[in-house]
Amino acid sequence: MQDHLLHQARLPQWLLPATWPRQGAHPALADIHITQGRIARIEPSQPTPTGDAVRHLHGAPVLPGLVDAHTHLDKTFTLPRMGAVRPGLLGAIEAMMADRAQWTPADVHARAAKALQWAYEAGVTRLRTHCDWWEPEAEPVAWQVLRELAEEWRGRIAIERVTLVPLSLHADAATADALARRVAASGAGAVMGGFVHSHHWDPQALAHLLDAAARHDLDLDLHVDEELHPGAQGLAAIARHLKASGYAGRAVCGHTCALAAKPEAEALAVLDAVAQAPITLVTLPLTNLLLQDAVTGRSPRQRGLTLVKEARARGIPLLVASDNVQDPFCPVGSYDPLESLAAGVLAAQLDQPFDRWTDALCRADWLTRTPGRLPLQPGDAADLLIFTAADAWGFPSRSQPRTVLRAGRPITEGVLS
Ligand SMILES: [Zn+2]
Repeated sequence: MQDHLLHQARLPQWLLPATWPRQGAHPALADIHITQGRIARIEPSQPTPTGDAVRHLHGAPVLPGLVDAHTHLDKTFTLPRMGAVRPGLLGAIEAMMADRAQWTPADVHARAAKALQWAYEAGVTRLRTHCDWWEPEAEPVAWQVLRELAEEWRGRIAIERVTLVPLSLHADAATADALARRVAASGAGAVMGGFVHSHHWDPQALAHLLDAAARHDLDLDLHVDEELHPGAQGLAAIARHLKASGYAGRAVCGHTCALAAKPEAEALAVLDAVAQAPITLVTLPLTNLLLQDAVTGRSPRQRGLTLVKEARARGIPLLVASDNVQDPFCPVGSYDPLESLAAGVLAAQLDQPFDRWTDALCRADWLTRTPGRLPLQPGDAADLLIFTAADAWGFPSRSQPRTVLRAGRPITEGVLS
C-alpha cells in the first residue's frame, strides 16, 4: 500500500511527549507518516508538504482507535420488542428476565452483530462486553455466541467477554472455583466478573470470587457499588483484598457511583486504596445519569457519577464507556464512545475534554496487565479517527462526522481532502 502523510493533524496533549512544541496555548499540529498501513513516525507539522500522498487535515482533531471498555451485547436492542417496561431498575430486570426466553443463538448473534457494526463504524478497535450468567452450572447461550463473534470480528474489533454473575453465586467457595475454572477454559478474551451491590452484600462471597480469579489467573472486571448508598463497601473491600493477596491480574471496577454519596474523607481514602491496589475504574455516564437517583415522577437531584477528577488526581486509570444500549436499562446509546464522553463532559464538568480526557476512550493498555504504553507508537497499525467537522476547542461537539482509518485506509467513504 502506498505510503502517505496526514498533514496538520491536531492530536490530544495526553498523546504527545512533554517536549512537543506548542502553538500559543495549544500543542502544535502534527504530521503523521504512514507506511504500509502502519505508523512510521509522528512529528511536528512541516511547512507545506506537496505530492499525491499528502492529505491535508487543516487542524482536524485526530484520535487513535477507540476502546469501549464496558458494554452488554447480550441484552442490546431488546427494548423495541418488550412493550411497556415498569420504570426503574427492578422493572428493567423483570422485563429482561422475561425476554431471556427469546435469547436463541441466532437472536443474540443478530443483535450483538448489529452493535459491533455500529461500534466499528464509530471507530472502535477494542470492545469488552459483559454477559449475564445466572446459573452456576449452565453456561448461558450468549457466552458461546460472543466467543464466536470474537472470532468473526478478529482483525476489526478485539472482543473480550466478562461473566456478569450475582455475588450470591460465589457464597460457596467450591462453586466460585468451578465457575472460574469454566471461564478460564472457555478460550481467549474471557474475564471473571460479578455484580457487587450493598443490596446483597456478602464479603465472604466476594473473597471467594477474587480468590478464584487469582487461582485461575483470570483478569477481573466487576460491576461495583452501582448505587448512591453511602454505606456501599464493595470498592473498598476489593481494593483491600487485592492488595493483601498480591493479585497479579488486571482488575477493573465499573460504575462505583457510591463514592459520590460517601463523606468526602472516606471516599478519598477509598480512592487512595484503589490507586495502590491498583484498579482501573470505568465510568458509564449515560446509564448512571439515567438510573441513579431515579424515582418515578420525581426529577433527579444527584448525578450518580463516580469521582472521576479525584481518581485522575491520584493517577488511577479511568475509562469512559457505553454500558447498556437500547435495552430496558437504557433506551438510548449508539456504541459511539464519543456520545458517552459528551455526557461525561457535562455531568462531571470535565475541563479541556479533547486534550485531557479523550485518553479515557483510547487507553487500551489500562485494561491489560502492562499499562503504560501509549497508542500510535511507530509500527502500530494506523487505526485513526479524523473528526472532519469538529475542532479541538468545542470537542466533542460535531464529532459525529468522522473518517475512520483502519491500517491507514478509510472504512467508509469520508472526507479526506
Ligand atoms: Zn454494565
